[in-house]
Amino acid sequence: MKAPRKFTTEAGRIIYSFPVQSFPNLVNNIYLISDGDLLILVDCGSGFAEANDQLLAGVTAVSHQFNEAISLEAVTHILITHGHIDHFGGLPFVRQFTSAPVGVHVLDRRVLSNFEERSIFSSSRLDTFLEGAGVSTERRQQLMQVYLFGKQYYKSTPVQFLLEEGKPTVGGIEVFHVPGHCPGQVCLLVDDVMLTADHVLSRITPHQAPESITNNMGLGHYLDSLTKISKVPGVRLALGGHEESMGDMVGRIQAIKIAHDDRLNKILEICTEPKSLAEISRDLFGRVESYHVLLALEEAGAHVEYLYQRGELIAANLDEIQKTYHPVVQYQKA
Ligand SMILES: [Zn+2]
Ligand SMILES: [Zn+2]
Repeated sequence: MKAPRKFTTEAGRIIYSFPVQSFPNLVNNIYLISDGDLLILVDCGSGFAEANDQLLAGVTAVSHQFNEAISLEAVTHILITHGHIDHFGGLPFVRQFTSAPVGVHVLDRRVLSNFEERSIFSSSRLDTFLEGAGVSTERRQQLMQVYLFGKQYYKSTPVQFLLEEGKPTVGGIEVFHVPGHCPGQVCLLVDDVMLTADHVLSRITPHQAPESITNNMGLGHYLDSLTKISKVPGVRLALGGHEESMGDMVGRIQAIKIAHDDRLNKILEICTEPKSLAEISRDLFGRVESYHVLLALEEAGAHVEYLYQRGELIAANLDEIQKTYHPVVQYQKA
């Protein structure tokens, strides 16, 4: 694992960062904001054994490398940037060391506090989505197993306070609500440093899923949220929930918007003939395996939904949709 890093804001606050391996193919950045008084932990990894070990090792490494008395016991507040398991799954583990209050946006609170219920609801919605996309029953069962893997270890944890836009949170940190990647996704402005979480990442375009599965997700919300965050003045440095730091956040946002435009145009080209979502996904991303199949279908689904909502795609098999209980929609360019 890479050595921890230290960033200093214009007001002299320190932001420490270190990576943890959340899942075999996913590394998350953990942040600790210190002003000598408060010690704020931002996100806490997936809760998997390896991630928990690395979380502890990372905090110790920060304390050694920068000669600061930092430990999980010394954490005064925990901020969760959004309700994805790689960001909050470690909460029950962290709770063993500190009773520091946990804050999250209201639209993701239930994911942390009513997790078992949310898992059942979101699985059911996802299954319906996959059925409508034209994924076979057998394949769907495999995908649902993949989806639920990694979600079986977390136990619901109460949330003590809410992160609200327009109301500075602990330490005067400014909160921006940026729905899209997740309903309660927030960016946190610490002086002139923006913690962008999974809203803006340095290399990949953050994952999108349709709002037919979860309200307040979806590409339309996401693109609006990109515009919103690009207008925040005075951001010198952006730090994402994964990957590297970004010196030019606005430039990175432009590149992400272009990537989505390209994908939307490609879908319109693909849909000169009627296509199911499963076919569109395969045309876009080729043949992928295990969890990536789900990610590809959701990503394609978010873009198709965006075009359908705006009348650029239409359903080509209305007759079948009218007569069938759970129809597979065939999309075609309007
Ligand atoms: Zn995420
Ligand atoms: Zn993430």
